[in-house]
Amino acid sequence: MQEITATEFDKEVLNAECAVVDFYSTECPPCEALAPKFESLNNLFGHRVKFIKIFRQQNRSLAEKLGVKSSPTVLFYNKGQRVGEVLTGGIKKSEIIKNLQHLLPEEEITKQLSSQQPTVSLFDAAVIGGGPAGLTAALYLCQAKVKTVLIDIALPGGQVSTTHQVSNYPGFIEPQHGYMLSHQMSEQTKLCGTTYKVAVDIARVDLNKKTIIIDDYETVKAKKIIIATGASPRLLDIPGEKKYKGHGISYCATCDAKYFHDKEVVIIGGGNTAIEEADFISRFASKITIVHQLDKLTANKTAQEKAFTNPKISFLFESEPRAFEKSGDRMLTTVENLKTGSRQIISSDGIFIFAGMKANTQLFGNELKTDPWGYIITDEDMRTNMDGIFAAGDVRSKKYRQITTAVADGTIAAIAVAKELD
Ligand SMILES: Cc1cc2nc3c(=O)[nH]c(=O)nc-3n(C[C@H](O)[C@H](O)[C@H](O)COP(=O)(O)OP(=O)(O)OC[C@H]3O[C@@H](n4cnc5c(N)ncnc54)[C@H](O)[C@@H]3O)c2cc1C
Repeated sequence: MQEITATEFDKEVLNAECAVVDFYSTECPPCEALAPKFESLNNLFGHRVKFIKIFRQQNRSLAEKLGVKSSPTVLFYNKGQRVGEVLTGGIKKSEIIKNLQHLLPEEEITKQLSSQQPTVSLFDAAVIGGGPAGLTAALYLCQAKVKTVLIDIALPGGQVSTTHQVSNYPGFIEPQHGYMLSHQMSEQTKLCGTTYKVAVDIARVDLNKKTIIIDDYETVKAKKIIIATGASPRLLDIPGEKKYKGHGISYCATCDAKYFHDKEVVIIGGGNTAIEEADFISRFASKITIVHQLDKLTANKTAQEKAFTNPKISFLFESEPRAFEKSGDRMLTTVENLKTGSRQIISSDGIFIFAGMKANTQLFGNELKTDPWGYIITDEDMRTNMDGIFAAGDVRSKKYRQITTAVADGTIAAIAVAKELD
């Protein structure tokens, strides 16, 4: 692997047979997460492909010329030509491997991958999921001198990192940006000495053997496992939803509201998230139609009052969406009135769906006891029905799902694990 500056770019990248270039920065958690993956791919493919690192802050004009706007950004070059995707954010090893297909024959990649030596790493505790619950559990375990690994399929932070403002997490007088709050939590846990394996692919988890296979060739073995995989937005599962997800349909106002400046938006849902996010989206959008299945909102009273007095927001109560379509740039939502059965089509620039959440338990098989909605049942020490397996945070069966309740669960699980290991 080579580190170069802008002056060497033409020689080392454009004149090379093929190259993968990582623009990185310092104090950049996703860059830190990428570094060991980049290195291991260099060990595997370095004899055929140049793996090159460029420090973005000191090579700004080159980065800007190449359209690199954030760190890390990974670019692929074949005989001096840019090929493949531009990878940014929490970059997975599998995403880089996928793009190597633009540089090397597929059979060669497969052969090289299968020559990898599987590795096994041993820990006292493995925390799966790096939201508030998992980060807190890992922090407590680490401070109790328990050798801990935190594993996440994305970058750490969980739902908080996509929440635009948090005003009810104690300790802060002013509302906090969600991504900053989750960044602070994550840095505190990492600084303590927790091993991070984030933005990885998890192929398999065997809760009985307490093994987790990541990125195909690495086995993590632990004496105890805390599941803190949280929850994800529930899909409505109606025609057009999957097709237009990310292309007109969004589940995250913090991520996408900014694209709807002076535009018309449909919001599906009437609970806290839908109504609070409608308020946020109304800073950008010119018109919002909220479609809600009940005859009144279920959001808290303060949020309701704000929504009812917001001139940009109108409501369609006792109505449900039946299909989503696209016509040119416009999204078309077919909405059925549940009382009369009549249907109308609402045209808008985009759709936000806030229809509740579902537990992220798909990885864990059927042996874990869950409630009828799929959330993991635990005792008050966060123990599940399986020996040595704990669950904490939104993934757990409970009444209230907040950051404070997630960190409380994480605390309890970690203390219980540390005691058992003693
Ligand atoms: C839009 C929005 C606004 C909110 N606002 C507030 C608020 O203002 N105040 C408040 O207290 N609460 C708020 N909440 C709720 C709060 O964010 C959650 O209760 C809290 O984040 C739950 O934490 P958690 O760690 O249990 O799970 P999550 O935050 O869901 O984190 C789970 C983590 O697990 C990872 N993961 C998922 N699946 C896997 C897998 N298979 N393998 C490995 N890792 C996995 C995810 O990538 C994620 O990092 C809000 C939620 C949303 C969606």
